[in-house]
Amino acid sequence: MTELNLSHLTLPTPERRVYCNRTLNLRSIRAIGFDMDYTLIHYKSAEWELQAYAHMQRRLAQKGWPVEHLAFDSELVSLGIILDIEHGNLVKANRFGFVKKAVHGTRVMGFDEVRALYAQEIIDLSESRWVFIHTLFGLSEACMYAQAVDLIDEGRLAPALGYRELYPQIRASLDEAHMEGQLKAHVIAEPERYVELDPELPLALLDLKHAGKRLMLITNSEWHYANAMMAYAFDAFLPGEMTWRDLFDLTIVRSMKPGFFTGTFPFLELVDEEREHLVIAQNQLKLGGVYVGGNAPAVERFLGLSGEQILYVGDHIYADVHVSKDLMRWRTALVLRDLEQEIVSLTAFADAQVTLDALMEEKELLEHRFSVARLTLQRIEKGYGPELATPPSARDLRDTMQQLRARLVELDAEVEPLVRAATTLVHPLWGLLLRAGNDKSHLARQIERSADVYMSRVSNLLSQTPFVYLRAPRGSLPHDPITTAHAAPDTHVDGWC
Ligand code: IMP
Ligand code: MG
Repeated sequence: MTELNLSHLTLPTPERRVYCNRTLNLRSIRAIGFDMDYTLIHYKSAEWELQAYAHMQRRLAQKGWPVEHLAFDSELVSLGIILDIEHGNLVKANRFGFVKKAVHGTRVMGFDEVRALYAQEIIDLSESRWVFIHTLFGLSEACMYAQAVDLIDEGRLAPALGYRELYPQIRASLDEAHMEGQLKAHVIAEPERYVELDPELPLALLDLKHAGKRLMLITNSEWHYANAMMAYAFDAFLPGEMTWRDLFDLTIVRSMKPGFFTGTFPFLELVDEEREHLVIAQNQLKLGGVYVGGNAPAVERFLGLSGEQILYVGDHIYADVHVSKDLMRWRTALVLRDLEQEIVSLTAFADAQVTLDALMEEKELLEHRFSVARLTLQRIEKGYGPELATPPSARDLRDTMQQLRARLVELDAEVEPLVRAATTLVHPLWGLLLRAGNDKSHLARQIERSADVYMSRVSNLLSQTPFVYLRAPRGSLPHDPITTAHAAPDTHVDGWC
């Protein structure tokens, strides 16, 4: 028997891996549901959002808002930021819900201003005051909101419009952009302008299908749009006469997620695809059928599977991932395309990060020494505390503290540009998506809670194979022993304290 040499096979590059929060054995998954927009179909977001923004602008101008001079500014907004519609701000929060950065209208707020307003606040997304930007479809809305806040501050909008009242009007204008059909007609007419093709994607789904998994498309998009997008993204890359329809055991459009996972909407069967004729699906769902609406419990019954055997893959942290996990206990995968850029930037910054970590370690040690010297001086001056074998003089202690202070000032000057670079990686204003300063961002926390795995694109599953056993890494805790080359040096100061 000849043994194949597989030594040339390595794991995919970091930005194309599948990352795991909770161990997932893909072999035990029997059915996989896919969201479409920004999951199977990736849009050139700046292009799409530009059009959505232009639509909002027209609608708001018709209402008399002075918005004609405004332009979509992708630098102002990012996935995972939160609108504070009480104060007219965009904010970024850490995993605990503390605000770390804020913009009022389009003006960046200073550190003291942020602290004065938010030091006592913990963001609770269940309050109507906070609006989380869950998907890339929210960027134009966030940008328009910030710019409209400026208009209020300049006294250019009707006095009855406050920061809170602005939001529903902007929301409604974006809803219209998505639902009224013109925008999607543009995308269907010129898909190459809006859609980023991924030629590896069809093969990834074929692998999963032939490995015995039932595949489902579950999208909030309507049939004629989903059909056009899926045909564009899949058909040319599938073998022979095969079309995207042959990949899926069930196609569910206008699924009304999150309602699909929470409610009991009936399934309507699309019996005439050309004329979009619908009838109530009375009996069993049919393999290969196209349905409108529906609900997740009925899908489980149809497949004869329970939640832990079904994986749902989507880009919307709430409507795709949080709800399917929370209510149905489906296994969940989040698609986050920007993860690629995030990982590339982090890799490029790795050496600088090592330097920064070393400087921070030195700073921590010197601060500790300073505090010990100060305490020793306090005890000597107040005449209490344990007797020292060789007590330092008050003068020596003051000199030492002065030297330490001088070095700490130098260190701060070295640290400052590195911290600035670290916090502006990827996005000049909001920084990395999954970090807020040194901590995890609010978005990272939500991903950790609801997504079993996450990846930049569905085709990352291709190199992982349908048989992969994805293992969660051991979670780190602040008290874990330090194992790096920069293990903390001994902080004991001889003879003192
Ligand atoms: P999915 O991601 O495949 O479930 O599809 C998302 C659908 O929701 C697309 O058809 C979008 O056009 C639509 N959509 C996204 N944002 C909005 C919105 O703010 N209002 C209405 N529809 C939206
Ligand atoms: Mg989506």
